[in-house]
Amino acid sequence: MKVPEEPCQCPDCLRFYREHDRLIREFPTLRQQQEINWAALQSFRTLCGRVLEDLQKQLNSCESNKSDENLKTETTENKEKSMTQVISDMENINAHLYSIEALMERIFDVKVPIEIENKFREIAGELAPDPLNIDRLRLNRLLHQTPDLPDK
Ligand SMILES: [Zn+2]
Repeated sequence: MKVPEEPCQCPDCLRFYREHDRLIREFPTLRQQQEINWAALQSFRTLCGRVLEDLQKQLNSCESNKSDENLKTETTENKEKSMTQVISDMENINAHLYSIEALMERIFDVKVPIEIENKFREIAGELAPDPLNIDRLRLNRLLHQTPDLPDK
């Protein structure tokens, strides 16, 4: 018989599990998940878009200065090269975010009746119960002999 694998307990994974559960707990309906994910995607796009604009401006001014000084140092050349690389990476990210937005729009058009939203809430409560819920704390003490204390 195969022993089920324990989920990874490294600090990064633990942080991820906590964040995952928090998002379920704080946004327990389809509507709320749609809204929070849309807002997250839009803020991601806005920020990346503005950084890209800024980098392009910087690169353009680098290139227009170039004609004045015929003696281009190796450092500025390397700097420009790495800047071009970063800009191309950022352009890729932006293109992917744009595609994700187009896909998400379809998910976000869906509305469900209130009974289904209640079902969402119910399942959310099972998946990610409040870690500070008194019953949960008591259960954890019973099971592990240690209180499930929150992070400060
Ligand atoms: Zn891990």
